[in-house]
Amino acid sequence: MRIELSVQDLAAPGMYEDIENVCEKHKGQLWSVNRQIYENPEPHYEEFRAHDNICSLLEGLGYKVVRHAYGLSTAFEVEYGSGGHLVCYNAEYDALPKEDGGHHHACGHNLIATSSIAAFLILAELIRSQNIEGRVRLLGTPAEESGGGKIDLLNAGAYRGVDACMMGHPGPLTPGNDGVSCPDTLAVTSTKISFRGKEAHAGATPWAGVNALDALVAAYTSISMLRQQLPLTQRVHGIILHGGERPNIIPGMASMEFYARADTCQSLQELCVRLEGCFNGAALATGCTVDFEWDPMYKELKKNQPLGDALTKHMKAFGRSFITSVKDGATGGSTDQGNVMYEVPGLHCGFGIGSDGDEVWPHTPDFAAAAGTEQAFQRALDCAKGLAATGFQVLTAAEFCDTIWRSHKHDV
Ligand SMILES: [Zn+2]
Ligand SMILES: [Zn+2]
Repeated sequence: MRIELSVQDLAAPGMYEDIENVCEKHKGQLWSVNRQIYENPEPHYEEFRAHDNICSLLEGLGYKVVRHAYGLSTAFEVEYGSGGHLVCYNAEYDALPKEDGGHHHACGHNLIATSSIAAFLILAELIRSQNIEGRVRLLGTPAEESGGGKIDLLNAGAYRGVDACMMGHPGPLTPGNDGVSCPDTLAVTSTKISFRGKEAHAGATPWAGVNALDALVAAYTSISMLRQQLPLTQRVHGIILHGGERPNIIPGMASMEFYARADTCQSLQELCVRLEGCFNGAALATGCTVDFEWDPMYKELKKNQPLGDALTKHMKAFGRSFITSVKDGATGGSTDQGNVMYEVPGLHCGFGIGSDGDEVWPHTPDFAAAAGTEQAFQRALDCAKGLAATGFQVLTAAEFCDTIWRSHKHDV
């Protein structure tokens, strides 16, 4: 049976109550898996416990899970339904390194996993109970902070046939606003740069050396000067990885790592060319050689306005006031969901957590603390309800799927 609902009709039937009921039913299990991920923070491509815990939960609920999907040891895939359109939710669960050498969920990816698992369970149960034609998929997507797991998954064909790919990311709570349906992010790429010269005794025969640290400092300084001439839509930031062995040896090798970001892929490519000028110029000036290779680019998010408007409307029904987009542009962050949304219609909404009097930003210890609270969990669940309602609309509302595809093709 195909339920025909227009966008206007959607609030009328019992969809919102059904969503609340399914979410409430699984709340205990969702809290447990959220805590399991939060308390066992694992770095990119090593999210073994998160992978196993989520897969076990879904298998326990009777779903057939493909563990280690698409050749990635910490990816998984589960799908429910048949025919019709296909809605996909992405679950991230990688953590960030901390200063003491361990890891923590300073980007709140435990909450991303929790909201995407919840959205999947809700939509799957609506498909089952209402006998809807259509499918929902949950993909476990490793290595967002570094590595680009979704780029691996895209290349392996994991998003083929998907009509809408959605997820929600926690962010700072701002007064009067619970979230943003379509935030902007920047395209990003990174590279490790190695300079090689020649070691020499720094006291006895310094003239016999070729100083790789000098090349690094020259490059770093050139980039700092270049920064003044960059448009506000571009960012460059880096760290020194290695600056030599001992002061009494002229350094024969020095290395650093840089990120470059811009509002579009094209602008990012132009920025990379200017940075390469800084690397090569420093090598030439010092007589060193230089090696670098850019990592695969995370593309900027392509907004899908109809999906964003739908989510904003549904969030209101669950008591959360979302805006569709932010006026003054990009958050400054970046995500490999951008690459997915170049291929298929998608959403990467932001939901606020923490205190609204004192904003907490991702990649800080305060955000890691906020990501473990019950308040953050509840907000992740509320986001899941909106994502599930939007997914329900993709599967059941006449013309809506065509509308989001038209918008996607127009923008990409
Ligand atoms: Zn993140
Ligand atoms: Zn992050």
